[in-house]
Amino acid sequence: MDVITLGTGSPMPSPDRAGPSTLVRTGGAHLLFDCGRGALMRLAAAGLPTPALLAHVFLTHLHSDHVTDFNDVVTTSWAVGPPGSELRVAGPVGTATFTDRTMAALEDDIGYRMAHHDDLTGPPVVHVTEVENGIAWRSGPDDDPAAIVVTCAPTDHRPVHPTVGYRIDAEGTSVVIAGDTVPCDGLDRLCEGASVYVQTVIRPDLIAQLPFPRIHDVIDYHSSVEDAARTATNAGVGTLVLTHPVPPPPAGTEHEWVELARRHFDGEVLLAHDLLTVTA
Ligand SMILES: [Zn+2]
Ligand SMILES: [Zn+2]
Repeated sequence: MDVITLGTGSPMPSPDRAGPSTLVRTGGAHLLFDCGRGALMRLAAAGLPTPALLAHVFLTHLHSDHVTDFNDVVTTSWAVGPPGSELRVAGPVGTATFTDRTMAALEDDIGYRMAHHDDLTGPPVVHVTEVENGIAWRSGPDDDPAAIVVTCAPTDHRPVHPTVGYRIDAEGTSVVIAGDTVPCDGLDRLCEGASVYVQTVIRPDLIAQLPFPRIHDVIDYHSSVEDAARTATNAGVGTLVLTHPVPPPPAGTEHEWVELARRHFDGEVLLAHDLLTVTA
């Protein structure tokens, strides 16, 4: 199972980091987790020319940086996919309403394309499942040992609520895509014994020095690098992947983030860049 960090940025624009988005590739299936700024450009770079080829899309939460390009996923899988393409999306409670609003915003474009292309006989079909805890999706029946199983658990990113993290079990290994959260019971359960744990992180020490008071507010609802490392140690994970670093590290300072994590975690630590591939 491969994890490809498509976009490793945050709301702070960076020329090198697209918005948060992660692809998991297993058994020929492609699963997309969040779809921030530039997600489809990075997806194309990872070898997927259209999101119509995704088996499933999962959203961790509805913060703008994680869903900016959801409209692009919907439009492009419909308009630049094989006829009859349908999109499957799972996300926290609120995802169905968010999808309805996205479709409403796209109404003009949907009309233009249907008027122009005879084979587009209906608007995009998006199947939404709202998830809270337990199985979010599985690729086959309960008794199929080869099925890909995606479970979710509530995370803590309050006042953003509800939020979920995901764990993918397949090919005898496991990957956790945590999303934005502070350490919490749901996160610990997802991470238990995982091979790869991908966590969005911040550096409170650096944020506190930024001269914009508003950004200081983000300190209390994200995992710091140290938090992520402690979660990884407690759960016995194999590899910790730090992503969505806030503030974005200037080139040449990435090792500082890794060294900070290593003080609390003995396993492999990687600071993700766009299109990093990690094999679980
Ligand atoms: Zn975020
Ligand atoms: Zn967030």
